[in-house]
Order: sequence, then C-alpha cells, then structure tokens
Amino acid sequence: MAYARSPIPVPFVDLAWQHQPLRSEILAIVEAALDEDNYVLGQPVAEFEAAFASACQSAHGVGVGCGTDAIALGLRACGICAGDEVILPANTFVATLIGIVRTGAIPVFVDCDPQTALIDLAAAERAITPKTRAIVPVHLYGQMVSPTALLDLAKRYNLVVFEDAAQAHLAEREGYRAGSVGLAAAFSFYPSKNLGALGDGGMLVTHQALIAQTVRSLRNYGATRKYFHTDPGGVNSRLDTIQAGVLQLKLPYLEGWNRDRNRLAAYYDQAITPLADYGIRPIKNSSGSGHVYHLYVLRVTTDCPIDRTVLQLELNSQEIQTGIHYPTPCHLQPAFQSLGHGPGDFPHAETLSQEILSLPMYPGLTTDQLGRVVSVIKSAIAATPATATNLTV
Ligand SMILES: *Cc1c(COP(=O)(O)O)cnc(C)c1O
Repeated sequence: MAYARSPIPVPFVDLAWQHQPLRSEILAIVEAALDEDNYVLGQPVAEFEAAFASACQSAHGVGVGCGTDAIALGLRACGICAGDEVILPANTFVATLIGIVRTGAIPVFVDCDPQTALIDLAAAERAITPKTRAIVPVHLYGQMVSPTALLDLAKRYNLVVFEDAAQAHLAEREGYRAGSVGLAAAFSFYPSKNLGALGDGGMLVTHQALIAQTVRSLRNYGATRKYFHTDPGGVNSRLDTIQAGVLQLKLPYLEGWNRDRNRLAAYYDQAITPLADYGIRPIKNSSGSGHVYHLYVLRVTTDCPIDRTVLQLELNSQEIQTGIHYPTPCHLQPAFQSLGHGPGDFPHAETLSQEILSLPMYPGLTTDQLGRVVSVIKSAIAATPATATNLTV
C-alpha cells in the first residue's frame, strides 16, 4: 500500500496503517467541529452513541472520557455501592479493578481458566457470599466469557452482570454480542483498541434507559439539567465531539478489521500449533470467528527449551515488537496490597503472567511480517541446545 507504515519492520500495532487512508476525512471532521465551534457533547456524540449501541445489539450508549470511567460510572449507575462485593478475574488490565474500587465496592478476585485465560466461573461461584452484588467478566484478548454460563450464574445468585468489553468490540459467542449480555457493559476507545479514537474515549452501553440516563448525568458533574446537580458521584468525563466523529467514521470498517484479525490469527495458529511439542501453545479460542483478537497471545510454558524473556529479547533484536498482557496480576499490584493478597492466591493467573507473550496483531499486518515472526520463534527454539534438531525452520 502506498501509505506510510510504521518504520519498525514488525511493530506490535500500526495505527498509521488505519489512519493514513482516512486522513482527509479525519481532517474534515476536525474542520466541522471548528466551523460549528462545538467540541463537547455535540451532535456527532449522540449519533455515534446510537450507532455503537446498535452495533453491540444493545439499546443505549453513553460516551465517556475513557473505558475506566465507563466501568466506574456504569457500575454506580447499576446500583453498586460501598460495601458491595464485586467479582472480577485476577488476570485483567488494572483498569477493571480501578473502576470497581472507585464505586467503593470490595473487589473479589477469582482465578482464570489456564487454557482460555478467561475468568473461571466455577471459581466465581465459590467466591459468592451474601454481599456479592455483581460480577465483572472481562472479555479478555477479544474473546467473550460464555454468555449462557454467565447468565445462568447471575440468575441463580441474583447478580448484576457488568461486562468489561474494552478488548471485545463486536465479539460474539453463543449468539450474543459483547456488551449485550449483562445489565450494562463498558467499552474503551483507547487508540490501540479494535475501535480506537485519536486519544482517550469510552462508552457505557446498556439495555436500560434509566442506567443510561444516570450515566449521562454522572459524566456531566452529576447534573440533571444545567447547573443543577443531583448526584454527588458526578465527574467530568465526556466523549469529545471530534473523537465521536472519528469513531463514527471508523465504525463501518470495524467488522472487516476484525475479520482481518481472525484471518491473521488463523495463520498464527496454523504455524504455531506444531510448536506444542516445544511447549509453545496459543491461548485457546473457544468461540470460533466470534473472537475478535484484540491480542494474539501465546503461552511459553516451562516445557519450552527457551525462556519467555529470552524469546521476547530475541524477537526484539529482530525488530519484532511483542507485549505481555499482563506481567503482574491485579492481586499482586503494590497499589492494592491492602486487599491482603499474596503470591499463590490465584495460581493460574500467576503462572499465565509468567508464560504469556502477545505477538504483533493488527489489521494491516502482512503475511510476510507474520511469517517473519514465526520463523524467528522457530529459529530461537531450534538454536537452543536442548532442542532436538528435527525442527524445520
Ligand atoms: C483498555 C482497557 C480498559 C480501560 O480503558 P481505558 O479507556 O484505557 O480507560 C479496561 N479494561 C480492559 C480489559 C482494557 O483492556
């Protein structure tokens, strides 16, 4: 393609690939905002809210400043308050935890399934107490937590399901779209998410008009009308007019981009499955093409002759960028020591944090680039003394 690409041979993500072809349309959106002198909560915000909620097969969307605010304000609007217990997986981005803590609720971690890295719902069930009000499943890496299993659990214990769908725009499983399963859901439009703004942004989606209305007030200083404030939990967290315009422009491309991610993941799977003999295993996809592969994550297990860190350094030395999502589980984060957890509390989450490696993944990644990633991994394994020499590179 004639457009500028990242100067790195195999970057982790390449946003320029997405934005260069849309450059003139993006500039027109900025000019429209200048012409109308309208920068906060303009008409494009309402339009994008409706379009995105509908794409999620939900009823209402409320644009906010970031995904973390969508979680914090959304949970509050769902009635979660101080002293309530809220279940979440230990292996998630810290924003899930921060969003819960901001409501005053008590976060209750549970471990994950080591194959899929998704919350273990049997462990969640064991963690339920009379104070449990909600569960926040995280559709991690772009794969949904089983909607039917979630709804069954929620029904049996009368729990609020609040989806953290920040990595799962348009993901599907068992006939449900991410964001349509629970009472409400949070999305992030951080630039590198499957649908990203040119800065921070987020959205709360919900089937219930009253929850949407409450978040509309909370995002705007808790006002129910101008200069009249009814909710002390109000903050300033709005989706900007320009960002909403850009997101609206990009939304029609999202399905195609997700398909590209799926196609790339299938290439990776094909090339990496034979490496199971060398202790390298992709995180399991239990939802077929409904997985939207925000990230493509491998496990470099202890059966692998090469250490995860060494492999990452080797890829890096060949100008291939990788990531670790995430190196420290939430329950071991220094900021949350007061919750009283220590090593060993959530063994699967802890083991995964030592094993996982996220490979380059974005629409626009070429099969040549992908082939280079795979061949560097194979060479690195073949070069270790412990490896039998029959690995074809
Ligand atoms: C990105 C992300 C968030 C937070 O979104 P921000 O827009 O960065 O605040 C929350 N949860 C998960 C799982 C995420 O990946």
